[in-house]
Amino acid sequence: SSTGRVTADQIDTLATRHFPLCMRHLHTQLKSNGHLKHGGRMQYGLFLKGIGLPIDEALTFWRRHFRHMTDDTFNKQYAYNIRHNYGLEGKRANYAPYSCVRIITSNPPGVGDHHGCPFKHWGQDNLKQAVAYYGVGQVETAQIAELARQGHCQVACTKFAEATAPPGVRVDPIEHPNGFYVQSVLASGG
Ligand code: SF4
Repeated sequence: SSTGRVTADQIDTLATRHFPLCMRHLHTQLKSNGHLKHGGRMQYGLFLKGIGLPIDEALTFWRRHFRHMTDDTFNKQYAYNIRHNYGLEGKRANYAPYSCVRIITSNPPGVGDHHGCPFKHWGQDNLKQAVAYYGVGQVETAQIAELARQGHCQVACTKFAEATAPPGVRVDPIEHPNGFYVQSVLASGG
C-alpha cells in the first residue's frame, strides 16, 4: 500500500496521482530547476517524510534532483538539513509536516520561491490553468478559482480533491497536505 513505506523511485508517479496542488508544484519545480529554495525544501521535505519516505530514500531523492552540484556540496550544505528534518541532527526533534493553515498563514513565498498554497498565493489565471491541467472541467475550475479569490483556500482545495477523485468518492475537508494524499491513495484503492 502507498500509505506505508515509499521509495524515491515512486515519487514521480505518486505526485501525479495523489499530491495536492501545493506539493505537485514543488515537485514539478524541483524537477525542472534541479533545486528548491529553503521554504520549498522544508514544506516539501516534511511532506515527503509524512507520506512515508524514510531518511535513506530522502537523501537519495534530494541528491538525485539537485543535479547541478557535486556530492561534496550536497553533503556539506543539504544532507545535514535533511537529516535534521528527520530528527537525526541538532535537537533531534520530530518535526511535523506543515498543516494547510500554517502554509496559508505564514511565510508567504517571495520571488523564486515555490512553497505556499496555490489557492492562497497564486493569481487567478495561474490557478485556473493548474486546476484545468489536472482534468477539472470549466465550470468547476471557475468555482474553485472563485472560492480561492474569496479566501476559502481549503474549501477550494477540497473541491479540487473532489473534482479529481474517482466518481462517487466522498472527500473529507482538506486540513493537511498529508491528509489530501492519504485520502487520494485510499480512494484509488491504494
Ligand atoms: Fe496544499 Fe492545503 Fe493549499 Fe491544498 S489547501 S494546496 S493541501 S496548502
